[in-house]
Amino acid sequence: MQIIRPRTALAAAAVVLGLGLGQAPLARAADIPAPAPKLVVVISIDQFSANLFEQWRGQFTGGLGRLAREGVVYPSGYQSHAMTETCPGHSTLLTGKHPNKTGIVSNDTHDRATGVKVYCLAEADVTLAHDPKAPGVGPERLMADTYGDWLKAVSPASKVYGVSGKDRGAITLAGHKADGTFWFEPSFGFTTYVRAGETAAAKLAPVAALNAQLAAEQKKKPFVWTYADKRCQALEATYVTGGRTWKAQLPPPAATDAAGDLRDLYASPYTDAATLRAATSLREQFHLGDGPAVDVLTVSLSATDFIGHRYGSRGPEMCDQIARLDAGLGRFLTEVAKAKGGVLVVLAADHGGSDFPERLKAQGYDAGRVPGAAWVKDINTQLRASLGLAFDPLVQAGGINQLYVVGADKKALPPVERTRITTAALALVRAQPVVSSAYDVDALLTEPPAAADIPPDEISVEERMRRSAYPERSGDILIAFKPYLTMAAASATYVAGHGTPWNYDRRVPIIFWWPGAAGRERILPLDTVDIAPTLAAVTGVKPPADVDGRCQPLGSDGRC
Ligand SMILES: [Zn+2]
Repeated sequence: MQIIRPRTALAAAAVVLGLGLGQAPLARAADIPAPAPKLVVVISIDQFSANLFEQWRGQFTGGLGRLAREGVVYPSGYQSHAMTETCPGHSTLLTGKHPNKTGIVSNDTHDRATGVKVYCLAEADVTLAHDPKAPGVGPERLMADTYGDWLKAVSPASKVYGVSGKDRGAITLAGHKADGTFWFEPSFGFTTYVRAGETAAAKLAPVAALNAQLAAEQKKKPFVWTYADKRCQALEATYVTGGRTWKAQLPPPAATDAAGDLRDLYASPYTDAATLRAATSLREQFHLGDGPAVDVLTVSLSATDFIGHRYGSRGPEMCDQIARLDAGLGRFLTEVAKAKGGVLVVLAADHGGSDFPERLKAQGYDAGRVPGAAWVKDINTQLRASLGLAFDPLVQAGGINQLYVVGADKKALPPVERTRITTAALALVRAQPVVSSAYDVDALLTEPPAAADIPPDEISVEERMRRSAYPERSGDILIAFKPYLTMAAASATYVAGHGTPWNYDRRVPIIFWWPGAAGRERILPLDTVDIAPTLAAVTGVKPPADVDGRCQPLGSDGRC
């Protein structure tokens, strides 16, 4: 290490203050107190990778710019588990726990007792306000409490509201005891779940006026996605994905039926704009942050993810989405800063992402596709032949990175047979050229965890997998496909995915902002499970003893 000796008294003083000569004076470290908010706003941008944040950071002029310039910025946050999907990623943000404790290991799992697929938030005892016949969703399967739940346990006057474009973006953040949990259904507006003894009308009351307004606006002048930022037009180009030739441009080609119109609307910046309006309206209606108790508002913005899947993340569509998000968040920050007791905002993401493999390949990356169900079918065919089976023993619930070993009825096998098939399947899966590594869930569930002092970017792939493994819910075989492989075939509404254990899917920005945060960059990694204990510390709440995360000091005194 080179020791630099200051040559003058001025230079020595600058070194003490951490300044280089010629730089504008920065605020002295001791001058920045930790925030003391009455409103905690948690923003998750679905699929907002650290790569996306870095790509556009220099262009931000709105809310993202304000957060990036004035906040405590961790450019390298990590969802440190392997199965980087929306439901598990959101489950880490406010529980302080990895998915192996939240129980939310993937968006869908296969239930070995009944032989059917189960959604991560499926709940039989609730109905949905917009459609009583739709399958129920609620927080029951989330096996951990959220920051809002911790807060309400010690501060019953505290109010907790959550809103999102997706049910899993709302429920996983708002938690078990929220006062209101709303998500956007494009055919209806904002909806929620209704428990026994409650009525849909009462539960929807906080969003009823907004829903009516959104419907009236759409009737009068339907949203058409044209460029908000004309510079994005320079990214227009023609691609071939899954044999389909299409031009990346705005507006996208009009749908041919009403269902297509709704699908296009959902996968557009409209969803985020509606979500931010709902969040603003909830803050105003319930005076969040205006009273003596600490209140919580969680906002999960889904459009970045929808757009990433539909059009990829490096085209004119994502360029325009990010510009609109920046502007929308600027207006939203101004709104939440009106909270009389002061606001603390934390922004993070449920997972990252990369781009569609055809565009990556043209840039020289060794990218490609594993054809999803067809790949599993091929493995099943080989297992049937080698083991003399009359049925397909492997099923997928959602992604093909998690496979369940089951009998002909899709239910659990006797242990001996299960072990025989799993052993053979693991050997076969590991021998596939597209596979980097594969794990037996029983081994993941019984091995001791990695030492707590290994940072989230340095933990092994096996440890990432271990953090995604939950008894009964996880598949028997967890698979890490080789980097840059998209684990699904392309379609007209899907070109790119995420869900891998690789850093492009795990690395997300984490930013804490409040008026007076004084813009500081923290370059070393932070785990998303650290967010909840940090929020708890600044609002005087004690997290449960078994959280995985640790408080990070937001003030400059290093105290938590
Ligand atoms: Zn997604």
